[in-house]
Amino acid sequence: MKISEILASREVTVSLELFPPKPGAGFGNMKKVVSGCVGLSPSFISVTCGAGGGGSQNTLEVVREVRDSGVVALAHLVAMGLGREEISRELGEFKANGIFNIMALRGDFPPGVSENNGAFRYASDLVAEIRRHGDFCVGGACYPEGHPEAETWQKDIEKLKIKVAAGCDFLTTQMFFDNNILYNFMYRLLKNGIDVPVVAGIMPVTNAAQIDRIFKLSGAPVPPRFKAIVDRFSQNPKAMRQAGIAYATEQIIDLIANGVGNIHIYTMNKPGIAGSIMGNLSEIFK
Ligand code: FAD
Repeated sequence: MKISEILASREVTVSLELFPPKPGAGFGNMKKVVSGCVGLSPSFISVTCGAGGGGSQNTLEVVREVRDSGVVALAHLVAMGLGREEISRELGEFKANGIFNIMALRGDFPPGVSENNGAFRYASDLVAEIRRHGDFCVGGACYPEGHPEAETWQKDIEKLKIKVAAGCDFLTTQMFFDNNILYNFMYRLLKNGIDVPVVAGIMPVTNAAQIDRIFKLSGAPVPPRFKAIVDRFSQNPKAMRQAGIAYATEQIIDLIANGVGNIHIYTMNKPGIAGSIMGNLSEIFK
C-alpha cells in the first residue's frame, strides 16, 4: 500500500522510524527492534539510510524485514555523492523487492565537503528522477525551524515548493519541540500553496546523552519548558525517561487536538519508548 493512500484514508496515523545497522556492523538485535515496532501496529515504518549510499544495502534488508512482518515500509534514499547509475540501481532493487514508498533526501555534507558532487544536487532533483522510474510514492523532508543552510525561512519554503512540485506525495518534518513552530510552519506552507499531507516528526528525548546531539542536529532551539525538564531530570535516567515520554505524549495530544493527525515517532531503535507513548494514547490512536 502507498503511504499517500494511508495518509488519505485515516484522520490519525502513527508511524515509526528505525535506523539500520552501520555497514559491516552485523544485524545484532535488529530483528528484535523490527518486531518490537511491528508489534505496536503502526501505520507504516520508515527506515533511514546512511549518507553517500553507505548502508543502503542494510536499509533494504531492514525494509524487507518490515515488509515481511506485514507492515507498510518506507525506504529512505540519500542522493549525496551518488551517480545516476547508482540511483537507478537502488531504485531497481526497491522495485524488485516490491518497495514502492521512498523518502527522497539529499543528505548532509560529509565532514570537509560543502558541495554535492552526485548526479542529483538537491532532493528535488532526486524526487523528479524517482518519478521517472515508475509508480513510486515519494516523500520529502521539511524543516519547521528552516533548514540550517537556508538563508531565510521564505527561501527555504520556496525551495520546498520546488521539491513538492517535482513530485512529493507527502512531507515529513524534522523534529521540533515547540508545537507553535509547527503551526506557524503549516500556515506558511498553505500560504505558499503547499498542500500535500505533512507528517509531524516527534523525537522523544529520554536520556541526557541524546540531548546535545539532537539540538545540534535539528538546529532547533530548546524551548524553556523542555530545558527545565532536562535541567531537573537529566542526571536521573529513570526520571528523564519518564519525563521525555510524557513530553512527547503531550506534544502529540496537542497536535492531534489541533488537527495535525499524522504523527511520526523517531524511535532511535527503542520500541519500548515508542510503545509507552502509544500506550498513553491508545484511545486517541484507535
Ligand atoms: P534538500 O531538500 O535538497 O534541501 C537542502 C538545502 O538546499 C535546503 O537548505 C534547501 O532550502 C536548499 N535547496 C533545496 N533545493 C534548492 C534549489 N533548487 N536551489 C537552491 N537551494 C535549494 N539524512 C540521511 O543521511 N539519511 C536519512 O535517512 C535521513 N532521513 C531524514 C528524514 C527526515 C524526515 C528529515 C527531516 C531529515 C532526514 N535526513 C536524513 C537529514 C537530511 O538528509 C538533511 O537534513 C539534509 O541536510 C537535507 O536533506 P533534504 O533532503 O531536506 O535536502
